[in-house]
Formats: sequence, structure tokens, C-alpha cells
Amino acid sequence: MKTARHFILALGLSIAPAFFAYSAEPQPMKPDDAVSAFLQGIKEPVRVATQAAQAYWSPDGNSICFTRKPDNQDVPGGVFTLRLDGESAPVRVTESGKDPVWSPDGQWIAYVDEAKNGVPQSIWVTDAAGEKQPEFIGSGGYPNWFPDSESLLVYSPEDSGLLKVNIKTKQREKVTDFPYPYPCLSPDGKRVAFPVSGRGVITSNLDGSQAILNSSTPVSSFLGRWSPDGKRLAFGGFPGAGMKLYVLDATTTGEPAAITEESWTRPAWSPDGLYIVCDSGAPGYEVWITPVSAAHAKTEVDENVFGVTLDVSQAPELEDWGNEAKQLIEDWYGRICNLIPTKDFSVPKRIRLRFRSEGGGVAETGGTRISVFSGWVKQHPDDIGLVFHELVHVVQHYTHRAPGWLTEGIADYLRWAIFEGKPQDWFPYSDKPDGYRDSYRVTGGFFLWLETDRAPGIVKKLNTALRLGNYPGEEFFERETGMSVRDLWAEYLKERKTAS
Ligand SMILES: [Zn+2]
Repeated sequence: MKTARHFILALGLSIAPAFFAYSAEPQPMKPDDAVSAFLQGIKEPVRVATQAAQAYWSPDGNSICFTRKPDNQDVPGGVFTLRLDGESAPVRVTESGKDPVWSPDGQWIAYVDEAKNGVPQSIWVTDAAGEKQPEFIGSGGYPNWFPDSESLLVYSPEDSGLLKVNIKTKQREKVTDFPYPYPCLSPDGKRVAFPVSGRGVITSNLDGSQAILNSSTPVSSFLGRWSPDGKRLAFGGFPGAGMKLYVLDATTTGEPAAITEESWTRPAWSPDGLYIVCDSGAPGYEVWITPVSAAHAKTEVDENVFGVTLDVSQAPELEDWGNEAKQLIEDWYGRICNLIPTKDFSVPKRIRLRFRSEGGGVAETGGTRISVFSGWVKQHPDDIGLVFHELVHVVQHYTHRAPGWLTEGIADYLRWAIFEGKPQDWFPYSDKPDGYRDSYRVTGGFFLWLETDRAPGIVKKLNTALRLGNYPGEEFFERETGMSVRDLWAEYLKERKTAS
């Protein structure tokens, strides 16, 4: 069953559900002791600056930069830095500017100036200490740093697209037509996030390829930043849009979670991914730091990131069994993913397990929902392994037509041979020349023999072919082993009979 939504964007991007592994390895320095102590004391959102907006974290974690409210004559404008020890005062770095971003190496702050040098919007770079004169880089808006700290991604209205601009040579190279003036570049410099009106949030490669609709919750506007590990996105709306601040899992398709009640915006992450700095916009112009809740603070995608929901409403008397089954899923989900991996393939992460009191049978799985019939469990309370079999179906996640005997044979091979540890002679077999198609344990036993004897790794390859929709038919076995599946089956039968 397919849950991701496919559609074609106006700019010609095809949206594919896929999992992207990020190779960016931000290596933030640990903030110094005074700053660590200050941040650790933040359990609720804390206001750290007034008459301030557009904050961004320094890569060492010790400071933020921000701009002062530009339209207030009483306050000197420009870019400021503030050491986050709870005591330091803001330091003015430039006399004007907006949208400041700190370079990954900590050396520079890039920002935008309006109506300077005769250019309506221009990019400038200053050294973060504010000791040198800022340098004009070229026209453009809303800069993002590439990981090398030598080039910026900027939005260029006259090119109606994104440019990569080298801060030393000033060389400008058009990267892509881009529909949105507030690009949000991933820390590895490979992907951008943007909203699509009325649809949700999309991430794609810089050239527009490999776009995923990460969230189908429509957002009215989007000012966002990637988490340092490139796995989450924080975003708010345009100031005044009344949107909350959200965090979204950027590795999958899911809905964003609001992390504040207020309509704060322009979030930026602390280098450790534990805090977000953001501002309240007009009229207050305050900069706040909020802890990212534990639910969103995870930095590693591993088997603990996914969630299992248990619904025992139709059989409350089976709650203990249900909890045991939930634990089994939590213990085995990641291992099953590792047993049948496919490169760049996204496996669903949020699994629902429920009991059904109506209808007969053992269990069934559709998409990520496992339904177990309560009548079966009451008669076979020891059959907890059935949940493992169903979980394999969730992980298989076949969206192309797959022969049932292969789908079930793989599930039963993993259940009985791997999970239950049954030996070869435990598996039933059938005398028919095409008995391998008898599915379930019969096929599972055949797979165990192939894995241990003729073709180690064949189940992994078979599963990948079924997932990707390129299973060629039974010739697959001949291709992998040099023998037809019927001949293999005949050999298997001969060995089984000799053994018994
Ligand atoms: Zn099954």
C-alpha cells in the first residue's frame, strides 16, 4: 500500500518517496562552560534579546547573531552578536543589515543590505568579530552557507533562481531555477527545503531532483532551517502569519509537530540540535531560545526513532499480550530492516498494532498497520511470533506486485529460521515439482536451504528486486545460482529426503 503522495510540481520535479542519508557531519565545538551552564538551565523558552530578530547560532555554540529592529530610530541597527552566558551584552558588528548567517567555520557572518551600493538587495560578508570592514559580495538575498565556508547560496530575483557565489572570487554560478525566495540549504549543501502553496513542505536536491513531499500539512509560509544533522527541519511562517513554530522529520513523510504555542518564526538550531533560537517578529521583536522537546531532539535515526502505537480498544483483556507484541516490534524492527536492506529505500517508521475482535483469521497487515485477531490470540497465546511475521510485511513495504508465495516465504523464512531459530529439518516440504511455490513455511524452508547452501544472500537480493519492482520472474533464481528454481527444488527435496 502506498502512502506517499506522488505529483508533479509546476517546475517539473517529480516527487518520490525515498530515504536520503545525509553525509554532512557538522562537528560543532562544545560550548564553553558558562554557556553550557546557561543553556542547560533552559527548560522553558527564554527571551535572550529585545528589539532583535533574525537570529542565527554560531557553530561553536557560544553565541548567536541577530539584527536589531531596523525601523526603530532609538535603536542602532545592524548585525549584533551575543555570547550566551546570560551576562554578556550584544556586540554590534555592522551598522546595517538583515538575515545574518554564521559561516560553518565560525569566521564569517554573511548578511543582506538593502539599497546599498546602488543594489536593491546585496550580500555582504563581515568577519564575525566585526574588526574588518564588511565586504560586498554581489546582489542577492537570503544567503545560506555551503559547508566549505567559501561559498553562499543566494536567491537572485533577476535570475529568478538560486546562485552559488564564491565569497573570495565573487564568481556567480546559477544552480537552479527555484520557485521560492527563502531557500533553506541542508548542512551538507545538497538539499533545499521549500513550501508548495496549499500542499506542504518539499525537500529536493539543489537541481530539483529527488524531491520528496515531506509533509502534506499546508503551510501558509515557510522560513526554515535544517537541524545540524540534516535530519529535521524547523520552520515558522512569515512574521504576522500567525503560524506556530514546527519541527519536521526531513528523512521521511510525516506531519510537522508544533513546538511552541506562540507564532514565533525564523528558527535556527544550536550546533548540538538541542535548542532553537527564533524571534517573535513585529511588534515585539524579541529573540527567544527554546529547548527542542525530547521527542524532536533525537539526532540519530535508528530503530528507536520510529514509534509503535498499540490499540487494545477491541480487546482490552489482551493488553499484556499487546504490550509484549509492541516490545517485540521495538526489539526487532531495526534488525529486520538490517536483514533485508535496500540502498536508499525508505522503510515506514510509525507502526500501528491493533486487535480486531470481528472476523476470523490470524493477523493481517496493510501498509504500516498490523491487525491481530483477538480470537486467535486467546486460543494461541504463545503465538507471539505471528507479530514478527506481520512486521516483516511492514518492512518489506512492497508497492509493486509481488508473487504471494515469495512475500509469505520471505516472511516465514525470517520468522522461523531467524527469529524462532528452527533447524532445516523442522520445515515442512512438499513433493510437487513446483512445491517451492507452496508459500509460508515450505518456501521458507527452501529459502533457508538456499541461504545456507546454494546462494547465501539470495533473500536480500530477492527482497530488493520485489521492493524495487524489478523481479524478473522465476529466472531470477537461475541468474543468481546458475540453476533453474525447479532444479534447485529437486536438489533440495533429494537432500531433505536423504536427511530424514
Ligand atoms: Zn503473511
